[in-house]
Amino acid sequence: MTTREPLWAGEKEGRSFRRLDVTTMLNGAMLAIPLHVVTGRHPGPTFGIVTNTHGDEFAATIAIRQFLDGLDTAKLKGRIAVVSVANPMATAGFGRQTPEQHGRTDLHEVYPGNARGNTTQMIAATITEHVLHHVDALIDFHSGGNGGRLQARVDYNTKTPDDLKQKNLALARAFGAPFVHENEFAGAAAQYLNGRGIPAVNPEVGGAYLGPHSTGYYTKMMVDGLAGMTRHLGMIEGVTKPVRQLHFDLKARREIRPKQSGYLVSFYERPEDLCQLIKGGTKLGEVVDLYSYQVIEQLVAPFDGYLFFSRYSGVVGGGTQAFALAEATQSRWLD
Ligand SMILES: [Zn+2]
Repeated sequence: MTTREPLWAGEKEGRSFRRLDVTTMLNGAMLAIPLHVVTGRHPGPTFGIVTNTHGDEFAATIAIRQFLDGLDTAKLKGRIAVVSVANPMATAGFGRQTPEQHGRTDLHEVYPGNARGNTTQMIAATITEHVLHHVDALIDFHSGGNGGRLQARVDYNTKTPDDLKQKNLALARAFGAPFVHENEFAGAAAQYLNGRGIPAVNPEVGGAYLGPHSTGYYTKMMVDGLAGMTRHLGMIEGVTKPVRQLHFDLKARREIRPKQSGYLVSFYERPEDLCQLIKGGTKLGEVVDLYSYQVIEQLVAPFDGYLFFSRYSGVVGGGTQAFALAEATQSRWLD
């Protein structure tokens, strides 16, 4: 346990923004982690939000900004601490991981980090020291990265004691996404915090460059979800509208990955398509060879299941996740 006071100790009602230096980069600039803090007038818990852990998953940015703008600090109990870009180097490269020479380049897998490790580990250590060690609940906000992915779920850690699992599940459900997924979290910020007894979950919502309809749909879901979680933590007033939610674990999860690379023609490209029950044998999409124009692969639902991940049409590499289903007989609707 750290005993050091958080950077925001002593901050009164209002908003602050600072950058936490990590190390120098080869372009001569300082690699620094941005930290927003919104402090309410009344005492309460500290809710941490980390996002852009993966550099091509920027969908939450505009929703978090809108959510923070809408907060009335006179009514807020406690504090919200937001790392708006957890991995600036990955973000600058439009990629998932840090472009650096040494291994362990996925920030999502290196927590709590190491102040004398590689750059990715140094980033994690900075976030751990200044944010993770000072929050009462956390979300690490992910979304679909490059490649037109559609998602709408909150993941929580499968490997926790039962009482914490219930807290994680309650926090995950408060977001109000149609899916709640019990998932593996090795090395993630949420798993590290869970190891310290703190509830922490990962929303996976929306995607990159989806166009106005889908972006608007998911932005609303994210803004409402952040408000729902904040209400759940007792930090703002109001009522959360209940949403029908499907729970599934890793056993129920099935990814449909084309064996061949090519142009995926997707038959499920609308956010409303997620959560639909798809009958086994239904065609989800097909892969057209870029060179010969032949259809070289059909992608078919292997069983009756709920579509929880889909893609826009466009090029895919062999082995890429194109669709994912939660098997109906292994999933359950939550009350
Ligand atoms: Zn991610």
